Amino acid sequence: MKIGVIGGGQLGRMLALAGTPLGLEFTFLDPAVDACAAPLGQHLLAGYDDQDALRRLADAVDLVTFEFESVPAETVAFLSQFVPVYPGAEALRIARDRLFEKSLFRDLGIPTPAFADIHSQADLQAAVASIGLPAVLKTRTLGYDGKGQKVLRSEQDVVGTFAELGEVPCLLEGFVPFTGEVSLIAVRARDGETRFYPLVHNTHDSGILRLSVASQAHPLQGLAEDYVGRVLKALDYVGVMAFEFFEVDGGLKANEIAPRVHNSGHWTIEGAESSQFENHLRAIAGLPLGSTAKVGESAMLNFIGEVPPVASVVSIDGCHVHHYGKAFKAGRKVGHATLRCADLPTLKARIADVEALIAG
Ligand code: AMP
Repeated sequence: MKIGVIGGGQLGRMLALAGTPLGLEFTFLDPAVDACAAPLGQHLLAGYDDQDALRRLADAVDLVTFEFESVPAETVAFLSQFVPVYPGAEALRIARDRLFEKSLFRDLGIPTPAFADIHSQADLQAAVASIGLPAVLKTRTLGYDGKGQKVLRSEQDVVGTFAELGEVPCLLEGFVPFTGEVSLIAVRARDGETRFYPLVHNTHDSGILRLSVASQAHPLQGLAEDYVGRVLKALDYVGVMAFEFFEVDGGLKANEIAPRVHNSGHWTIEGAESSQFENHLRAIAGLPLGSTAKVGESAMLNFIGEVPPVASVVSIDGCHVHHYGKAFKAGRKVGHATLRCADLPTLKARIADVEALIAG
């Protein structure tokens, strides 16, 4: 079966690494000459709105998927005329806009921070008066890794902030005094069968994910599965979805969804029976889903800016390197390490070992 992927970054690369053993073949549409997934398949070098290229892609593959959610709606609509697209247009429409996303959570009875739609500085002043401070102002679309958002702590912070974010449609959210951030990676097949990986505890720095640790029997696993299951069903979703939550007051508040494989699920490559990449492909290709069970205690550490010396990283027992083959650049995700150990104390010690190498 031939799979078309919109985007040829590291997520596309890891999809191909998981799908090739299943006999799947990949074509990546990406305007970047140095797209790091390109060596793993065919590379259609064109813009996401290039209708000739989209038509060629649709003709060359059996179905299309995405490695990022900011794909123009027109691209999805155009492709859908010729070839099945998973996840579908509605899931992408919701996930690319924070207002639609939070409105869906609210409609489905899933707790989420207080929020207001902002189109002007006057809207912002009014929303701050009702939601209160601290609060977080975020662009509705195109934000990632903490970009396109600002925490407002005082009335002074509110002045001029709408202009600072580019006077684009924004969402104001109440600040959540969370005790932790967790994500749930789920996969739903074409026939509706749904499986969940264990909740993952995530640590960010400067808005970028640094460390994900797969949890043991987390007390909020059932609640998270209930919330995520509601969204998957409402969207008649097919494929892997990542759902990020804040842990607060012993419960969960929904932050955002990603309609794709996700950085906080990279530990599954070596840490789960079937990885998120394999399960996404199984789901969209109409194959039976694979087990989401953990195979040991597992964690993932991102390499930001550069990959530490590979020989040193792989000398740590149970440590696996994933080098994305991208040019090193400050703030850029260029690889990660997956750790798999027999028990938690060993995992903690190995995490410290990898962190020391990352620190240089
Ligand atoms: P996001 O792009 O929405 O995932 O936000 C990036 C990071 O900012 C999150 O991982 C949180 O650490 C923090 N953050 C975002 N929204 C809020 C909020 N409403 N309250 C507190 N922290 C937040």
